[in-house]
Amino acid sequence: MPAADDEYTHDNINIQEIRKDLYECAICKKTFLYKSWLALHITKHMEPTHFCEKCDHVFGRKDALKRHIQINTIKKDILDMNS
Ligand SMILES: [Zn+2]
Ligand SMILES: [Zn+2]
Repeated sequence: MPAADDEYTHDNINIQEIRKDLYECAICKKTFLYKSWLALHITKHMEPTHFCEKCDHVFGRKDALKRHIQINTIKKDILDMNS
């Protein structure tokens, strides 16, 4: 096999590996070298976090917090009835 062809193949593999290692943000298509950098970046796209006043549970969405509070209220009502 000619040496030139061999080198060409190696170059192609290297380019593909570099591309594969990049993590792309699905929202703005920005690429990151490390998955943790992408994870940190994605939080910037998210809605502000919502905290439950009763148990400090964190929710990314307001409706999720609302549902959590409703479930907790129902649970509390059941506990109050039993006590
Ligand atoms: Zn992004
Ligand atoms: Zn809670």
